[in-house]
Amino acid sequence: MKPGRFTYHSPRSLDEALAALQVYGDDAKVLAGGQSLMPMLNFRLARFEHLVDVNRLGAEYAEPTFGDTRITIPLLVRQRRVERSEEAARLLPVLTEALAQVAHPQIRNRGTICGSLAHADPAAELPSVLSVLDATFTIASSRGVREVPAEEFFLFHLTTSLEPDELLLQVSVPRPPVNQFSSFREFATRRGDFALAGVAAVCEVDAAGVVTTCRVAAAGVAPTPHRLTDVEALVTGASLNEDLWPDVEAAARAQVDPTGDIHASAEYRSRLTGVLVKRALADIRGKLEASRA
Ligand SMILES: Cc1cc2nc3c(=O)[nH]c(=O)nc-3n(C[C@H](O)[C@H](O)[C@H](O)COP(=O)(O)OP(=O)(O)OC[C@H]3O[C@@H](n4cnc5c(N)ncnc54)[C@H](O)[C@@H]3O)c2cc1C
Repeated sequence: MKPGRFTYHSPRSLDEALAALQVYGDDAKVLAGGQSLMPMLNFRLARFEHLVDVNRLGAEYAEPTFGDTRITIPLLVRQRRVERSEEAARLLPVLTEALAQVAHPQIRNRGTICGSLAHADPAAELPSVLSVLDATFTIASSRGVREVPAEEFFLFHLTTSLEPDELLLQVSVPRPPVNQFSSFREFATRRGDFALAGVAAVCEVDAAGVVTTCRVAAAGVAPTPHRLTDVEALVTGASLNEDLWPDVEAAARAQVDPTGDIHASAEYRSRLTGVLVKRALADIRGKLEASRA
């Protein structure tokens, strides 16, 4: 199918893009990589009078920066760009691991990281990853710039705190300390499909091997990235070892209340979440041991 008629705007600067969004508001949609928006328009699941294509805003919005205190990903950074970055693999392995499981390479070549976050699909990998990385979302409009944390950015299925005249300008995360270890685990029926469930985990570990900070979030089991705070509480102050796995698995299962659909029952998704949490933490333990070998 083809999309309904729309007027195409191709601003050459951020100010122009924000001005277009201010003028057309609810009738406009930002077009980034088009990997979610265009199928929705083509299937007539959505219709907008105006598309504001941000792809010509400038090369400065297409490269991540790895600063001394923060790592920043502006709105035109393609998913593949970060997936292939050695610096990202070294500093943010949880992001690299998750990106490799987003759709297919062709889609990641076009799809942007900010586009996936703004789209806010509950089954998408990146919202849960950016949640555990303690991300800050920088949002711009003609009215100014504001910053929000992940828990205020993701509101519901496909719904964020972005207003119709706003653009997600960039997402940034603190540069991780050297004692941070992370993992992303998911299960999808076929490679490249959206996952039935996924888990992102980040732990900081002291010299004695005790976890000092733990953040865990599940994807695909709630309308937004679901922080597993009971798992975090169990793991914080403990050493990562097999004695912990049964409690961790039970806590994860108890803290999710997914819905079932044609792909998997609610019970299957909650059991899967428990298994994935265990696998992610075991992976972190393996990385910790490897770093000390
Ligand atoms: C076959 C297929 C399989 C897929 N599988 C997966 C998967 O397994 N996991 C997964 O996570 N994703 C998957 N996707 C989606 C893919 O990752 C998209 O690339 C991503 O969700 C959207 O990024 P985009 O840059 O293409 O955004 P677009 O499609 O251009 O935009 C998506 C939405 O976000 C808005 N938007 C985009 N950028 C901004 C911005 N900077 N500011 C404000 N609003 C903005 C748009 O207006 C639109 O509403 C799949 C897509 C396809 C076609």
